[in-house]
Amino acid sequence: MERAKLAIVGAGPAGIAAGIEAKVAGIEPAVILEKAEHICDTIERLYRPGKRVDAVYRGVEVAPIGICKFETESKEEFLERIKKWVEEYKLDIRLKSEVNYIRRVEEGYEITVNNEPKFLADFVIIAIGIFGQPKKPDYPIPKEVRDKVFFEPPNVCPAGGKVLVVGGGDTAAEVAAFLCPKCEVYISYRRPQFFRINPVNMKILEEKVKEGKIKLLMNTDIEKLEAENDRVKVYYKDGKIDTYDFVYYCLGGSTPKGFLKYIGVEFDLEDRPKVDDYFETNLPGVFLAGDIAVPKGSIQLAFNTAHIIISRIKEKYLK
Ligand SMILES: Cc1cc2nc3c(=O)[nH]c(=O)nc-3n(C[C@H](O)[C@H](O)[C@H](O)COP(=O)(O)OP(=O)(O)OC[C@H]3O[C@@H](n4cnc5c(N)ncnc54)[C@H](O)[C@@H]3O)c2cc1C
Repeated sequence: MERAKLAIVGAGPAGIAAGIEAKVAGIEPAVILEKAEHICDTIERLYRPGKRVDAVYRGVEVAPIGICKFETESKEEFLERIKKWVEEYKLDIRLKSEVNYIRRVEEGYEITVNNEPKFLADFVIIAIGIFGQPKKPDYPIPKEVRDKVFFEPPNVCPAGGKVLVVGGGDTAAEVAAFLCPKCEVYISYRRPQFFRINPVNMKILEEKVKEGKIKLLMNTDIEKLEAENDRVKVYYKDGKIDTYDFVYYCLGGSTPKGFLKYIGVEFDLEDRPKVDDYFETNLPGVFLAGDIAVPKGSIQLAFNTAHIIISRIKEKYLK
């Protein structure tokens, strides 16, 4: 079993920032365990090529408080920045290392990787994000249309067709803008107006709406889907019915509750993992960072949670 002072689970923005903060704070050895074949899997997989990585996300400006910060730039530039940090700070990242279980033993926390106990660590930071599990609607998706209904943003635009994008956040706005040059695009959002789209996306959306390339279906809620002649028939709760070639749900991700509950993290009455002001769980020395630690995550917020946690480990445990 390999011994580490700190084990970080997940090499997304939160995990990488935690590794950097730990290095600078002298908390060593620190190992970052990442289940994918590359770092930043959410960004690699779900951001389409050339996507703007906004420093102000969901309309919320987050001031940097630690070492890691960035300005709005493209997906490729952002990933390049992260790779440079990994080299500069000589982070020890183990790819293809999925953490399945964490349990308290006498010497610290035993960490099971790819179904084998592999590491013993004094502290654990869990930074596994929420996008491994995209949020899905309550109604069933008929199996006949499963190849036409998507829960992740597209990387390639279909050659044409009528498309419904469901959601009211930045991702919905970006997906609609990406699809509209080739497709007839509709956005269904259950509120009367958008309130958490950043100004850049909002401006693009307004332009496309004005040009008639995107049509907004505000105040609409979907009741059910059915298959109809190789297309998706959408029943809205207000009685309207329409048929689309493709449906893209952009509803965000959900906390990986199963994993957290399995390792013994307690949840509050709202079914959110219980953490203190420094993101420490009920398991002493086990912290949550990034999207799983905060209600509405962003990259800068993920960086900041990492800074708070490492400062806390130093202050509380290593003084
Ligand atoms: C389409 C889209 C567009 C977005 N655009 C922006 C934007 O413009 N600006 C912005 O600030 N935010 C944006 N976000 C949100 C942003 O991506 C997240 O807030 C951020 O990635 C959170 O970082 P994280 O490190 O907490 O989690 P993630 O980035 O999700 O990283 C988690 C990592 O943990 C790994 N992992 C998961 N489970 C395990 C396990 N059991 N063992 C080992 N490794 C594991 C995953 O493979 C992944 O690499 C966007 C999100 C999406 C989906």
